[in-house]
This record gives sequence, structure tokens and C-alpha cells, in this order.
Amino acid sequence: MTDATDTSLPPCDLAIIGGGAGGVLAALQALRRATTPLRIVMIEPRDVLAQGVAYATTYGEHVLNVPAGRMSAFDDRPADFLDYVVATTPPGGPDRETLAHAFIERRRYGDYLRTRLQEVIAASPASLQVVHDTVAELDARDDGTTLHLVEHGTLDARGVVLAVGNTPKPLPARGAPHLPEGRSLAAWDFDAVKAIPADAELCIIGSGLSMVDTVLSLADNSHAGTIHVLSRHALAAVAALPWRCRDVRSRAVAGDGPARAHALPAQRRPAGGRRWPALAGRDGAHPPARADTVAVDVAA
Ligand SMILES: Cc1cc2nc3c(=O)[nH]c(=O)nc-3n(C[C@H](O)[C@H](O)[C@H](O)COP(=O)(O)OP(=O)(O)OC[C@H]3O[C@@H](n4cnc5c(N)ncnc54)[C@H](O)[C@@H]3O)c2cc1C
Repeated sequence: MTDATDTSLPPCDLAIIGGGAGGVLAALQALRRATTPLRIVMIEPRDVLAQGVAYATTYGEHVLNVPAGRMSAFDDRPADFLDYVVATTPPGGPDRETLAHAFIERRRYGDYLRTRLQEVIAASPASLQVVHDTVAELDARDDGTTLHLVEHGTLDARGVVLAVGNTPKPLPARGAPHLPEGRSLAAWDFDAVKAIPADAELCIIGSGLSMVDTVLSLADNSHAGTIHVLSRHALAAVAALPWRCRDVRSRAVAGDGPARAHALPAQRRPAGGRRWPALAGRDGAHPPARADTVAVDVAA
């Protein structure tokens, strides 16, 4: 008998916790492979699916870090994202070959995943229910797992996929405890980056793809101030920096500034990263700690 106050959801075969890119990709695969009317439930607090930290950006200058020809959601259809991009690019735009090598706006990838999800749902014997809620707790049982949702009671599932993504690290950044309050912001706070005055001299801590996002946004705002980039391994995704930047150059900064606090042992070289020429050691070894700071002067 069911308690009249029981808000529990009907049990399911598969619960997917998180409806970002990973959760939607898991749902796509489960729905495609289903041969029986499996019940799949996805729990996601956001109103729109496939809008995790990467693809929620509304800014066109934020691009994918992999060319369109290699971003398919399906192993057996490697050109699927490219097909989507070609089909949704207005007439007169770049041709297929150019698009295959292009770094497409990230917001279009969320659109792609949502489009494919609707198509796959329509063709699958399985069903997908999306519940807009947050999972607060999991209880393992012999025959599955009980999920405790914040607003929708409980959900019993035979299998569970955890697709909750990475939580952005809170500021202040580790290793930079002396940043004055209100003078630092998270690179993923895209609106705050857009609001930086165009003449500000600023420092970006870290030289990975979020640095590239930030520089792209600043360039889009015609930023004229100097942008310093602190790198702990003297590598940067230079190739991904904006073609609109007229002058990108690196230099070693000597002295006892905060750079010393960021001088850490050499890291594994990231894919696609390029060692800053001014900082490379004789045999490509990690440069001396005092040189482990780079300044990037960007003119839009
Ligand atoms: C700035 C940036 C750019 C990136 N660019 C690229 C790129 O170009 N190409 C690429 O392949 N990768 C890129 N990535 C990596 C990217 O984050 C992953 O590819 C992908 O978005 C990860 O998907 P995910 O589902 O794991 O996480 P997310 O997309 O972040 O989704 C996690 C979801 O889980 C939900 N959630 C969290 N906790 C709960 C809970 N308790 N209950 C229910 N739901 C919950 C959240 O609301 C969120 O929607 C980028 C990352 C960043 C930060």
C-alpha cells in the first residue's frame, strides 16, 4: 500500500544523476542500446539539459577545444557532430572541410546533444523521465540503490550513473592567499570576466584552456590593458589564443614577486601545450623557478 504522503517516484532500471554533457551522453547510449522498455530517470536541477560548466556559456567566443570533426557523441558515427554543424550552419558559411577542422562555439555543442537526445528518445523502446531536482544522498541496497532527492522523495534504481561533473574550486586560489578581497574572480564566471574594464592590467593564474577562454572574452571586449599569465609549468595553449590578438609574446619575469609562490615542479606536458620559448631550458627541462612566470601582452 502506498502512503498518501509518499512523494516517491516509481522505481526505474537506470538513474542518471546529472544532466550535463556526461549525463546526456550516458542517456544517449542507454536509449540507443535498449531492446526492451527500460525506464530511465535523469535527475538534473537545471532547466536545460547539457548545460554544465562548459556548455552553459552564452558567449560566442568560447569555443570547443577539439575540432568539430572529432566531437561526435557516437563511436559508430564519428562524423555525427560535423554533420550537425554542417546542417545548422547558415548558407554561405564555411564548407564541410573547413568546419571539420574548426573550433566551433561551445554553446552549439549543448544544442547538438539536446537535438540528438530528442531523436534517440523517439526511436528507442526505452523511456527517459527528466526530474528537475538534486540528489542529496544514496543508499546502497542488495538489489540496487535508493536515491534521496531534495524535493521528490526517493527513487529506487537497479543501476546508477553518477554524472555530476566537477565543482569549480572556490576562490581565493590556492597559493594566492594575499589577493585583496574583491580583486579576484573565477575564470568560469563569464559575466564577471566580461565586466573587467578594458584598460585594466590583470593577471590570470593558470595557463590552460580557461585562460584561453578569458583572453578570448577580453579580446572580444577590445581589452587594451596588459594581461599577465602565471604558469606553473611554463606551458600555454598558444595555438588556441585568438587570431585577433596582434601581439602575443612571452618573457621571463625576474624578481621575488608572487611568481616564486607559484614555482612548482615540472608537470606532465599537456596535450597541445607549447612551451613558452623564452622559458624553455637548454634540453627542454623545467626552467629555473624565478623564470616560471610569463607575461602575455595582448592587443585586440
Ligand atoms: C571552461 C571549460 C571548457 C571546456 N571545454 C570543453 C571542450 O571544448 N570539449 C570537451 O570535450 N570538454 C570541455 N570541457 C570539459 C567539460 O566540462 C566536459 O567535457 C563536460 O562538460 C563534462 O560533462 P559532465 O556531465 O561531467 O559535467 P557537467 O557538464 O558540468 O554536468 C554536471 C551536471 O550534474 C548536475 N549535478 C551536480 N550535482 C548534482 C546532484 N547532486 N544531483 C543532480 N544533478 C547534479 C549539474 O547541475 C550539472 O548539470 C570544458 C570544461 C570547462 C570548465
